[in-house]
Amino acid sequence: MPFHLLIPPYCSIDTQSAIGEIRWRFFLPCLTICYLFGMHYTPYRDLLLKLFPNYLKVRKLPLNGGMSCPNLDGTKGFAGCSYCNNRSFSPVFDQAQVAIQEQLDKFVPKLREKYPNAGILAYLQPYTNTHAPLEKLQGIIDPIIKHKEIAGLAIGTRPDCLEDEKIAYLAELNRKKPIIVEIGLQTANDLTLAAINRRHTLAEWTDAVKRCQKAELTVTTHVIVGLPGETLIDFKHTAEVIRDMKLAAVKIHPLHIVTGTVMAQDYIAGQFKLLEFEEYCYAVAEMIKIIGKDTAIERFSGESPSEMLIAPNWCGERDRIIAEVEKLL
Ligand code: SF4
Repeated sequence: MPFHLLIPPYCSIDTQSAIGEIRWRFFLPCLTICYLFGMHYTPYRDLLLKLFPNYLKVRKLPLNGGMSCPNLDGTKGFAGCSYCNNRSFSPVFDQAQVAIQEQLDKFVPKLREKYPNAGILAYLQPYTNTHAPLEKLQGIIDPIIKHKEIAGLAIGTRPDCLEDEKIAYLAELNRKKPIIVEIGLQTANDLTLAAINRRHTLAEWTDAVKRCQKAELTVTTHVIVGLPGETLIDFKHTAEVIRDMKLAAVKIHPLHIVTGTVMAQDYIAGQFKLLEFEEYCYAVAEMIKIIGKDTAIERFSGESPSEMLIAPNWCGERDRIIAEVEKLL
C-alpha cells in the first residue's frame, strides 16, 4: 500500500510546531498500526484527533446550563422518558443554579491542573441543552466559547429542540471552535420510542440530524440496547439508521434500571427482562459490524452511581464489556 494512504486525511504534519512533531512521531505510527492490524471500529479518540488536531488528548468538562427538558416541564409532557433520572447520568447535576462563568472558573483550573496539555471539550450534559429561547442559549454558550482554555463544545439535546435559528447560531460558533451536537435517539423503532415516552419520532430525529449536518455541525447520538420488547432485529435496524445517517459518533448503552423511574417500577413488577451480559455484548458486536468505521464508537458501556443502580450489575464493567465485544468482532 502506498505510504501516503496510511496517513489519515486529517493528520496534518506541522513540522514547525512541537505538537505537530509529537503527533508525527507518536500518533501516526499508532494509527497506522490500528489500520494495518485491524481495529474493527473507529474509536472516539480518532474523531477527537480529527476535530482537535493541536491536542494529543482531549478531556470532557461536564457543565450544567440549568436547562429543563420539554418532556419534563410540560412543553410536551411531565413524566419524562421512562428510563430517565438525570441525577444518575450527570456528575454536575447539582450545578443547575450555578452560573456558567462560575462553573468555568471552578472546574477549568482543576481539569487543567490534572491534564496540563489536554484540549478541554466543554460538555453541556444534563437535560436538553437547546430547550430555551435563543437569547438564553447565547447567554449560556457564549461565555463557554469565549473562554480561552475551552477548545470546543459538545451539547446534548433532543431532535425537537433544534429550530433553524439555533442551528444557525451553533454553526456560526462552529467556525470559531468545534461544536458537537449530540442528538439522542435511543432506538430507531417508533413503537418503542412511543412506549418509552420519548415523545419524538425517528422522522423528527433524522430531520434534525440532516439540518445540523447541512450546517456542517458534527453530529453524534446515543442509543440504548435492550429496551423492553426489542430484539436483535431492532438493534440491527438502529445500527443501519446510524450508518445511513453518517453520524460522526455514537454512544451505545445497555439498558440499565435506576431508581426513581417509571421503568424501575415496571422492572420490579416483572414486566420485562434485561439482556444478559453475553446477549448485550453479542448485540453490540453485531451493531458495530453494521455501523462500520465511518462512525466512531464513543462508548458501549454505561455507568450509574451504585446507590441508584438497580440492574444489571455488570453495566459499569467497561473493560470486561470491551474485551467481550472485541472478541466477537
Ligand atoms: S432522557 Fe432526556 S429527553 Fe428524556 S426525559 Fe430525560 S432529559 Fe428529557
